[in-house]
Amino acid sequence: MSDCLFCKIIAKEIPSASVYEDDFVYAFLDIKPVNPGHVLVVPKAHSVNLLDMTEETLVAVARTTQRIAKAVCEAVGTDAFNLEMNNGAVAGQVVPHAHLHIVPRRADDGLTHWPGHPYAEGEGEKVAAKIRGLLL
Ligand code: 5GP
Ligand code: ZN
Repeated sequence: MSDCLFCKIIAKEIPSASVYEDDFVYAFLDIKPVNPGHVLVVPKAHSVNLLDMTEETLVAVARTTQRIAKAVCEAVGTDAFNLEMNNGAVAGQVVPHAHLHIVPRRADDGLTHWPGHPYAEGEGEKVAAKIRGLLL
């Protein structure tokens, strides 16, 4: 038996408020939502984060996430939502089974955007060049 919390939820060994399921994806309400309707979209195949998901799973998750996000927004009466994926503990990932958060937004919900800091002179171009080089 897997020790992974989300594998146990997918296997229905732990109950969840499910909203959608197919061969690739299980989606359910986050137990501590930012707002009502906050859904976790979870690939059934265990992977830790975005980087070890197969392309087939990734495509299925992306397609399904769009459908679920539309339903979430309609269900709670908003047209605004955040799509978030925390990859790695430093990025705030607590459950090490890949998942996307669909967070429907309300004007007064108190969730704030991350702080942005401008690049020092020349630094942005150096970083961009390094990333470009790794993508050749
Ligand atoms: P992370 O920080 O890993 O991106 O997010 C994990 C999310 O899983 C959190 O928002 C947390 O509230 C949710 N969560 C943790 N344990 C459970 C659980 O047992 N059931 C459900 N439905 N959600 C959970
Ligand atoms: Zn898992």
